[in-house]
Amino acid sequence: MSLVIVGSVAFDTIETPHGRREKIVGGSSTYCALAASFFTQPKIVSVIGEDFPEEAIDFLKEKGIDLKGLKKSSGKTFHWEARYGHDPNQRKTVKTELNVFEVFKPDLPVEYRRADIIFLGNIDPDQQEEILAQVEHPKLIAMDTINLWINTKVDSLLKVMEKVDIFFGNEEEIKLLTKEPNLIKAGKSLLERGPSFVAMKKGEHGVLVLGKDFVFGVLAHPCEKVVDPTGAGDSFAGGFLGYLDKVKSFDEIALRRAAVFGSVMASFVIEDFGIQRFKNLSYLEIEKRYNQFKNLVSF
Ligand code: AMP
Repeated sequence: MSLVIVGSVAFDTIETPHGRREKIVGGSSTYCALAASFFTQPKIVSVIGEDFPEEAIDFLKEKGIDLKGLKKSSGKTFHWEARYGHDPNQRKTVKTELNVFEVFKPDLPVEYRRADIIFLGNIDPDQQEEILAQVEHPKLIAMDTINLWINTKVDSLLKVMEKVDIFFGNEEEIKLLTKEPNLIKAGKSLLERGPSFVAMKKGEHGVLVLGKDFVFGVLAHPCEKVVDPTGAGDSFAGGFLGYLDKVKSFDEIALRRAAVFGSVMASFVIEDFGIQRFKNLSYLEIEKRYNQFKNLVSF
């Protein structure tokens, strides 16, 4: 099968109780594709500016990520700045500079159009819509979003949601979007709007995958050291969709295992700043943590 990931490739400035990093490589499609690359060969659709470092491109290539859909435009790369306090589930977006993303017109390479799985990362919902107009009968469409679009483009976002199979959202985003303080009621109301499944990410408390006749809860790996929570959501999506692409199945067992692999990938990325942890991560470590999950929930 094949997995196409649409989202940002970015510079992130991050401040957490463990320190501050200026303009390190990040972005929703970067995190998602790196997590997925441990299971399959994902394809990225995104845009970077002239200032994006070649070493980062080389690293993505080394990981087997297809970059035919990564466009270089004149101008600056997307830049996002966020600050986390002692509660890793609470973050403040300090700055979003769309830069080359502001005028990005996604144009899918021909071989991307027949992808089996499409992930629409947290970019402008109008750009997500443009992607959907170009794909030919994918088997599974998943989407994510971020507060900015809930606050500024909610109608476009809800239109995209009608066409997707899985919606990934964190607790704060889902409550903001539905204006419903009870997460289960909020998740159920999103199921009425199109998706068959809603993956509700609750940070260090794990993930709840809700379907019409289905509910599955995954604990987060008990991490003692959360250095930088950025990218946890996208890495969850990458592990989840990368695993489904690898096993070529969307049945209930595959969905449950995918959610555990998603959690495992999220638990690794937060151990260091940015994408650093993916640089020395091995599949053996992933498998080991996946097996630890079984013990964690066995009773
Ligand atoms: P996550 O922590 O998984 O929710 O995603 C964080 C990533 O999303 C960061 O690497 C940011 O660069 C990226 N990001 C934040 N805001 C936006 C936005 N408005 N559009 C696209 N990407 C964004």
